Amino acid sequence: MTELPPRRLLLVHAHPDDESINNGATMARYAAEGAHVTLVTCTLGERGEVIPPGLAHLSGPALGQHRAGELRDAMRALGVEDVRLLGGAGRYGDSGMMGLPDNDDPACFWQADVDEAAALLVEVIREVRPQVLVTYDDNGGYGHPDHVQAHRVAMRAVELAEEAGCPVAKVYWNRVPRSVAEESFARLRDDLPGLPFTGAATVDDVPGVVPDERITTEIDGTAHAAAKAAAMRAHATQITVAEPYFVLSNDLAQPLFTTEYYELVRGERGSGVRETDLFAGLGLGIGDAS
Ligand SMILES: [Zn+2]
Repeated sequence: MTELPPRRLLLVHAHPDDESINNGATMARYAAEGAHVTLVTCTLGERGEVIPPGLAHLSGPALGQHRAGELRDAMRALGVEDVRLLGGAGRYGDSGMMGLPDNDDPACFWQADVDEAAALLVEVIREVRPQVLVTYDDNGGYGHPDHVQAHRVAMRAVELAEEAGCPVAKVYWNRVPRSVAEESFARLRDDLPGLPFTGAATVDDVPGVVPDERITTEIDGTAHAAAKAAAMRAHATQITVAEPYFVLSNDLAQPLFTTEYYELVRGERGSGVRETDLFAGLGLGIGDAS
């Protein structure tokens, strides 16, 4: 096996597109800096709603296959080469929105045995040995069953990996500080008349918004804003981008954040009011210079 770079980052996400929306700038930055970036996506999102009328015929496995292609294109835009589907393509199905009968499908990720799915993730952790893992909070950011389950599986995998002698030094949850969300939506309301979208979402539509004091880490991805926007555009069935805004299938505009925020929930926090590097304090070089 070829030797991996000294800094290794693992992101665990529910569907293709979540990684680009939440962490696109972070992923592009670390890939550009030569860190090893691994994305594990748990489902192919085959119950997602399709935006472009020309692709509206896609559903189920055909949509999953199409979204796998979108994910590949998005990762090319971010410069990320190590992309995996948990347990292989099609192992876990999209569970649909919370409360729908889709949630009861025995093949869906919501119905997965957490320990079994976590064991699959532990295999990746043992292979890649990431120092940093990024996932959602315990509500999955906004309550989607696949996001909640991705959180449970990722956190369980961290425990199991530690028991197996392969600890992950730092675990982060995706966050947006409330002040940043509110300022961005205020700007959005001013800009809305000039945008090609029907309306504006609200702060409550943004996953992971918390009081500012819970933010431990801020990754300035301004230099990688174009890569993030390109990655989001690659998910054309799910996202329409008009920088610095985007919409999902509801056509309600949201800010496209190029500084991405995190809450450290496991491991030692680096120095400073807020960390500016996910690897801060780990003694791996670049992260300790600041
Ligand atoms: Zn999702």
